[in-house]
Amino acid sequence: MFQVNMSSIPDLIKKKRDGETLSDDDVRAFVDAVTSELIQDAQTGAMLMAIWQKGMVVAETTALTREMMLSGEVMSWPKEWAGLMVDKHSTGGVGDKVSLVLAPALAACGCKVPMISGRGLAHTGGTLDKLESIPGFNIHQSTEQIHNILDSVGCCIVGQTKRLVPADRVLYSLRDATSTVDSLPLITGSIISKKGAESLAALVLDVKFGKAALYKDLESAKELAQSMVNVGNGLGIRTGAVLSRMDTVIGRCVGNSLEVIESLETLKGNGPDDLMELVTTLGGILLMMTAAAPDLSEGRKRVADAVASGAALLRFQAMMEAQGVAKETARSLCSAHTDYFTVLRKSEHQTELVTSADGVVTDIDGLVLAQVLHKLGAGRSKVGEPINHSVGAELLVSLGQKVQKGHPWLRLHYEAPPPTPDQMSGLQSAVTVMTNTHTPTHTLVHEVLLPN
Ligand code: URA
Repeated sequence: MFQVNMSSIPDLIKKKRDGETLSDDDVRAFVDAVTSELIQDAQTGAMLMAIWQKGMVVAETTALTREMMLSGEVMSWPKEWAGLMVDKHSTGGVGDKVSLVLAPALAACGCKVPMISGRGLAHTGGTLDKLESIPGFNIHQSTEQIHNILDSVGCCIVGQTKRLVPADRVLYSLRDATSTVDSLPLITGSIISKKGAESLAALVLDVKFGKAALYKDLESAKELAQSMVNVGNGLGIRTGAVLSRMDTVIGRCVGNSLEVIESLETLKGNGPDDLMELVTTLGGILLMMTAAAPDLSEGRKRVADAVASGAALLRFQAMMEAQGVAKETARSLCSAHTDYFTVLRKSEHQTELVTSADGVVTDIDGLVLAQVLHKLGAGRSKVGEPINHSVGAELLVSLGQKVQKGHPWLRLHYEAPPPTPDQMSGLQSAVTVMTNTHTPTHTLVHEVLLPN
């Protein structure tokens, strides 16, 4: 362990504050001090603010990410899996259930997918919350259990263990307290260090932009994507990114149980085009980067085939069982004509909203929908808060669809608290119906960034 000379920390802060570039040793000294708690929170906060203000060059961000990754356990895999380990990260969206389809589809293509996911915060949903709406699904798995599940199934979707990237836990909580969350090098370090600790061969990032994304404009999303691609590749992980639009809802369902149902329907071959576009593009990039497919188009085809053939559904069923779901429950969810609500909890109340004019549906505002659902209990405002898995909404129309006044466009699933009149009118304002307009295009993938 690096022995910190306490007088060096103020020097490091000063160096960054004055706009100099930190060396690899400087970054190591800082991260070691953070991890071993040999540094005052005020000093860490000051360094975070200096980084926020002055930014970091790629070499510094790479060093920061590497040292954060090395602050805890770095997973190791059998030699035979070396080129097969893959994962994806999304910057968060509304109705984003891509991981639930992509992980088993990649496993069916021969990859090993140790997917470490997060929970929902603010208006965006979290993969772990979605999976926990399945009775028995256990997201807490030890490294040894992850290893066993990858061996037998090929994919798992789990929460972060305490031993993984401890430096991020400290830095993340202090970033919150010091208004330094929105810093490109700090976000890059936080995300890529956790993926690096999975010892991956390839990583794909789904960086979203648009009104329902964390990054509203394409330019800032692209900057983040490029930073993560640079640093991921700098750590020896083949890293690519997709810049995808996030204005409306991905697929037709938002809310934890409803998104599990839509994912299962997708795995049964009945998925919406926009969701399948993301699944096949992200998966195709990974297959190409691991050389399992010669190019993106063949990669996309293999992922689509894994879904269409039912092979991905079988992996999802096996993953559920391996992660604690009773055999009978998993079988029932994966059978062709199941009533999902015999297994998943259905909300006590449903109500339909109708369109207020004749015309073409030109927009459904995903952010407005997600914010109302969040208030109705689908999401949390603070880490650790409980959520109601049954709260959500189903879109009953598609973008570009012609409708008449009074056509049902949204089915809201709610319990207590019921929606207030303000929330109902907020929801109603989320749909735009226009006359004399042409059908909007609705492809999500805007650009793909690949390693050089
Ligand atoms: N997700 C993370 O894990 N860290 C960040 O800084 C942002 C998103």
